Amino acid sequence: MTNFPRAAVIGNPVSHSLSPKLHGYWLKRYGIEGEYTALQVMEDALETTLRTLPSQGFIGANVTIPHKVNVMQFADKITDRATLIGAANTLTFKEDGRIFADNTDGYGFIANLRQGAPEWDPKRGPAAIFGAGGAARAIIVALADAGVPEIIVANRTRAKAEALRSDFGARVSVVDWVQADKMLEDANTVINTTSLGMVGAHDFKVSLDELSPKAVVTDIVYNPLQTPFLIAAAKKGCTTVDGLGMLLHQGVPGFERWFGKRPDVDDETRRAVLA
Ligand code: NAP
Repeated sequence: MTNFPRAAVIGNPVSHSLSPKLHGYWLKRYGIEGEYTALQVMEDALETTLRTLPSQGFIGANVTIPHKVNVMQFADKITDRATLIGAANTLTFKEDGRIFADNTDGYGFIANLRQGAPEWDPKRGPAAIFGAGGAARAIIVALADAGVPEIIVANRTRAKAEALRSDFGARVSVVDWVQADKMLEDANTVINTTSLGMVGAHDFKVSLDELSPKAVVTDIVYNPLQTPFLIAAAKKGCTTVDGLGMLLHQGVPGFERWFGKRPDVDDETRRAVLA
């Protein structure tokens, strides 16, 4: 066993994850002796891996696709926000092997918006969300917590957006995907949480004609950094925020818990992760 703290990102596949670069950079920047690695874990090996890691010097882990939901059943304590979202992305292993689970995606989303658009006032009007997948769940919980008065969701598969409304209550309303542009009219915050626009995925084709230049617009896709969705919103005069910062900020609470230092997310961090 090593005599320095270890953490990892657990997923399958996991080689694409930027988390090792991010945490490796922070460890170096703050002169902390520690290790952060990527572990490819098959679904049927998830429990054994989680039970074994603490005895190998691991103090925590980030969790990515496809384990974010399944990991919850092995946790001994789950934060309220992870319970509400129904998924965890940050685990802390106690010395006795107990597992604490949290979800920091929503925190990362809000911290990124506040950093990229300091003038953003969540209470000023409705939020319009494209997509109803795992990331949208975390973002809806965070937006409601930040005081957004109304959250409108459009998803290709309408039933998934309806499920969000039944889980998160009256503040959430649903519009058809084919009428998604209609939710933009009064929107104060506009978010793409679909994979549309990502390298290798289909294009984002919903018209942004109805978008007010006062809206703050963000895309959680960060490859490319400037997605066609953000470029179109910028052309309408909106403040836009790219999705890389969400990924960087969601790593902050885990790093602080495991390695005892609250890390900065700044231009230097962005450069290190993009290098
Ligand atoms: P997910 O649960 O698989 O959800 C995918 C979403 O994209 C669903 O709403 C899906 O609609 C929609 N979608 C996919 N293909 C579509 C198409 N051709 N037309 C219309 N809608 C389509 O994935 P997720 O975990 O929420 O992640 C979504 C995206 O966010 C991914 O690109 C991921 O890399 C990115 N992400 C970024 C961060 C960050 O830190 N910046 C964090 C998490 C995720 P249906 O329900 O109809 O299939």
